[in-house]
Amino acid sequence: MSINVRFWGTRGSIPAALTAKALRAKLVEALVAASGRELDTPEKANAFADTLPFSTSHTFGGNSSCIELRSEGAGRVLLDMGSGARAAAGDALRELKGAPGEFHVFQSHLHWDHIMGFPFFTPAYIPGHKITIYGCHAELEHAFRRQQAQPSFPVDFSVMAAKIEFVVLEPGRTYDIAGYRVTPKPQVHGGDSYGYRFERDGRSLIYSTDSEHKLEDAEETRKFIDFFRGADLVIFDAMYSLADTVSVKEDWGHSSNVVGVELCQLAQAKHLVLFHHEPAYDDATIERVWRETQRLEEITREEHPVAVTAAYDGLEITL
Ligand SMILES: [Zn+2]
Ligand SMILES: [Zn+2]
Repeated sequence: MSINVRFWGTRGSIPAALTAKALRAKLVEALVAASGRELDTPEKANAFADTLPFSTSHTFGGNSSCIELRSEGAGRVLLDMGSGARAAAGDALRELKGAPGEFHVFQSHLHWDHIMGFPFFTPAYIPGHKITIYGCHAELEHAFRRQQAQPSFPVDFSVMAAKIEFVVLEPGRTYDIAGYRVTPKPQVHGGDSYGYRFERDGRSLIYSTDSEHKLEDAEETRKFIDFFRGADLVIFDAMYSLADTVSVKEDWGHSSNVVGVELCQLAQAKHLVLFHHEPAYDDATIERVWRETQRLEEITREEHPVAVTAAYDGLEITL
């Protein structure tokens, strides 16, 4: 059974909307590139748009972390409740057409950018839906309740009418949840974070965000290589460039595109997805990091190729 991975929010730390000025710059660039061409039908215009750089024809989007896993016969799984969860909720409700839904949410950790979408996750307010929130922090339930407590939010958590349960998992143990084998792993981050390995029908994916790697720690690196081993997809915190991670932003709890390539090569993972983009980066900067990462992978490749994608809000990958 294939696994469909949908990215609803891919931005790190805080949502970052596309500005009017940035949109205008894209439009001008596209119009200049199109000059002299006859683009008088939507088909011709679309075909031409495909020839433009991704950062001109698209945006990486600005919602914070939320990813959905779908697989026939498996439960509905969401990874983190960042601001992207609002759009995920709308999509799920349209598809459910009034039927009760069951949602399994896995939390990497409890920083705002990973929980702020929950008060806007509409199924939580509708009786009949069931939401189970898994995580490895003892404060899991407290963090969700506190977020909606006065004076920070107008609607208290207790008003939510769905059946909501919290389950604290033990890192390193493997669980069978919603049709997946799930293994959480501790990661280095302020207040701790946890990566997850999901396996189903011979397919595997890693969700590893908000994780700082120090490759000089050989024992730690070996544990991550084992965790990533042979994965079909690795969703990886590549918030900073390597120059940032070894200088000003060391110990800020995040990682870089360069470390992502190295770990995926060592683990023989198949596809690296750069995730948790720096909110200060515009689309052109994220695309530049993406292209540089692809080049790095090519020139350091031994036998085993690793595909490299920069995540964007709306991206879908099928394993
Ligand atoms: Zn984060
Ligand atoms: Zn964090």
